[in-house]
Amino acid sequence: MKSIQAATYLVHFQEKAYQELSKLVDTSNYSTIFILVDENTFEHCYPKFIQNLATNIRIQVIEIESGEINKNLETCIGVWNAITELGGDRKSLLITLGGGVITDLGGFVASCFKRGIDFVNIPTTLLSMVDASVGGKTGVDLGVLKNQIGLFANPEMVLIDTDYLTTVSEREIKSGTAEIIKYGVTYDVHLFNEIKENKNLNINDLIFRSIEIKNEVVLEDPKEKNIRKILNFGHTLGHAIESFHLDSEDKENLTHGEAIAIGMVCESYMSAKLLGFPSEKVKEVKEVGIYNKTKLLKEDFPAIIELLKHDKKNVNGQVNFVLLNDYENYKLDCKVSEELIVESMKFYNV
Ligand code: NAD
Repeated sequence: MKSIQAATYLVHFQEKAYQELSKLVDTSNYSTIFILVDENTFEHCYPKFIQNLATNIRIQVIEIESGEINKNLETCIGVWNAITELGGDRKSLLITLGGGVITDLGGFVASCFKRGIDFVNIPTTLLSMVDASVGGKTGVDLGVLKNQIGLFANPEMVLIDTDYLTTVSEREIKSGTAEIIKYGVTYDVHLFNEIKENKNLNINDLIFRSIEIKNEVVLEDPKEKNIRKILNFGHTLGHAIESFHLDSEDKENLTHGEAIAIGMVCESYMSAKLLGFPSEKVKEVKEVGIYNKTKLLKEDFPAIIELLKHDKKNVNGQVNFVLLNDYENYKLDCKVSEELIVESMKFYNV
């Protein structure tokens, strides 16, 4: 599989990616290689990874606890302290080996440590392969508010090895599919149709095409002034729903993709009401995207709407949605009334 040229780095695939990583490590004169993992990726991914890294440079593993709830500044401080105690300096390399929590947090940790050290992303979930590891967004949550602290910073390279997916749960695979559906409905309806028809799906092709799309969009608009906002389809309400569940002790947490899938259904409904997005397509997004039918309770709507007020795309307190006129045809910065947001959540529940 050929590599994909991103802004300042390449996304490499399978065996070739390990050769490229070894080349990078050989030629960059790093002092120490830190590998950031969580307990699951240490168990399932690290053994394969370490076998494939040919180097004499000192290696140190730093493990954090898995889960979105740990994607915060406290965890970052723990990692910065660990790097410091283990003798990290400006010539250290940080390799993130994990899902989107690890790549988001690790990229942020690396970009701030001594004003920035090199990092390499090795995504190990479907979601992080198709989305989180590419595009240069790094960061952490502030309390339950998603991705409030962070910066744009590019890795030295991204290594995609789909073998890591063999130990990922079915639930997490479906979670990653939500982001592929997002690319499909906003940018490439063929991709959406493939998922919809669910015949002879080739995971390598789906991942490759998803990264290509994300990269094309990001190259055109790296700092999200314009077209990159389409990648937020489903995320405006989706993030609020995800935060709400993170914050509620009596509710089961949703995966990122589950929350985004609900967000896409609601935002498709808003699109139909405001922009004439065809209602049969709203139904289609619901049928294809929703697999974990978590009910949104009516009494929880106000708290979810309150959380919307912290969305990063808001300007002057106004919530901005990305909506669809049709598949592959979007409208940015749409204002939506509270009544319609509530209606869309009721529609999702039916
Ligand atoms: P995650 O990192 O929490 O991983 C999900 C679970 O899978 C975790 O328990 C993890 O330990 C486990 N896991 C990871 N790899 C495994 C493997 N190979 N085998 C077995 N278990 C494994 O979640 P995620 O869905 O990968 O990422 C979600 C995060 O990504 C969110 O924080 C979201 O905000 C972020 N994100 C960022 C961007 C971006 O552009 N930076 C884009 C989309 C999502």
